[in-house]
Amino acid sequence: MYERERLELVDKLSEKGINDIFVLKAIGEVERHLFVPKAMKHHAYKDIALPIGYGQTISQPYTVAFMTEALMLKPKFKVLEIGTGSGYQAAILFKMGIQVYSIERQFEIYSATRKLFDHLGIHVNTKCGDGTIGWDEFAPYNGIIVTAGSPNIPSSLKKQLLIGGKLVIPVGDKNSQILKIITKLDEDEFDIMDVPQFSFVPLIGREGWNQK
Ligand code: SAM
Repeated sequence: MYERERLELVDKLSEKGINDIFVLKAIGEVERHLFVPKAMKHHAYKDIALPIGYGQTISQPYTVAFMTEALMLKPKFKVLEIGTGSGYQAAILFKMGIQVYSIERQFEIYSATRKLFDHLGIHVNTKCGDGTIGWDEFAPYNGIIVTAGSPNIPSSLKKQLLIGGKLVIPVGDKNSQILKIITKLDEDEFDIMDVPQFSFVPLIGREGWNQK
């Protein structure tokens, strides 16, 4: 179902500058319409974010592709995702042969997405909790991807990154953020590249925004 729309989406992302073939292949294979509410299915292959309920969104495909490409992944790498949401980003990583660990703070979203992963046979390790403090038990990670906008770069996430690994995180105020692509050069040495103008829902937690 929707195969033609998926291939058109892949073409669009490639025209917009995504060139990691493993990312494009995964976008071409993962059925995004299964990760959005029924009423949104006919919009699933548009390059736009969509509401998934509880005030949250499934990220725009271009954003998912851009952030995934920025992690510079190889199969079997271990990646921590903060903000499981619909599960689409995690499914893309899983399709790329990545060992995925994903944390979601909202219980309703966490349990619906956990059920979806089981139903679709997507093997992702999930946890309900505050992702701003990472998931120490399985650290260090080759990559960490934060899919909500943060006021800063949580120190726990920097700690849990492998030397040579990459952390991709939107940082800014609640309306717009700069995407930071951070490479861990040494225990306390990081290279930071800024990519402007992304917009995410807020990252709420101990090392993120305070809950209202
Ligand atoms: N990756 C998701 C996808 O593929 O659909 C998009 C996620 S949505 C833009 C951001 C998610 O981050 C929301 O589901 C929100 O509840 C979650 N979130 C916000 N703060 C969080 C935190 N501290 N820890 C874990 N999840 C958090």
